[in-house]
Amino acid sequence: MFVLAPLPFPHESLEPVISARTLRYHHEKHHGGYVKALNALLATAEIVPETLEAVIAAADKSRDRVLFNNAAQVRNHSFFWASMTPHRAPPAGELAEAISTQMGGIAAMKAAFVAAGVAQFGSGWVWLVSDATGELAITVSHDAENWQGEAGSTPLTVCDLWEHAYYLDHQNDRKGFLEAWFDALPNWEFAGKQYAAAQGRGEKWQHAAALVTA
Ligand code: MN
Repeated sequence: MFVLAPLPFPHESLEPVISARTLRYHHEKHHGGYVKALNALLATAEIVPETLEAVIAAADKSRDRVLFNNAAQVRNHSFFWASMTPHRAPPAGELAEAISTQMGGIAAMKAAFVAAGVAQFGSGWVWLVSDATGELAITVSHDAENWQGEAGSTPLTVCDLWEHAYYLDHQNDRKGFLEAWFDALPNWEFAGKQYAAAQGRGEKWQHAAALVTA
């Protein structure tokens, strides 16, 4: 079974962009709900793979949309928490250099990231990703979908576009939420590690493996 890990920061620490109330609901009810549903589905599955990545890949291959959606949403949310920090710091090193040369700087990248998130119709996620050569791109995905279908693409950071991520704090103002989020909350140190891993230096982030319950 998979476990809902505690958040890597206190509930109040992302305010005012994300309130403690939003974060508590998001983590315990939404993310926790996906974990519960995933474990219920796996309880009756014939094979229980050890890693969440393997579950997602198997569900995608067999076109089991219910299993895929719950497993992918568990992973997407864990990655979302890893992508944020209350300790604000700008991108550094080779990632900062790549943002400057490829994206025209952090302000231009923010504008592109926000525009992509605003243009996404309905629920989903907006990502900053890198390919194996270090080429950056901003992508969006619908609902639970993630980057696993895109060979060679590694996520560096993500923001949740589902209304539950921002509605209590920003109501319908997704653009305002994304702008405030981008300014204050991305964990650029984590993104930098993912950027190195994308190019074969270091391990890419992986979801915590399933607990063995024999
Ligand atoms: Mn969410």
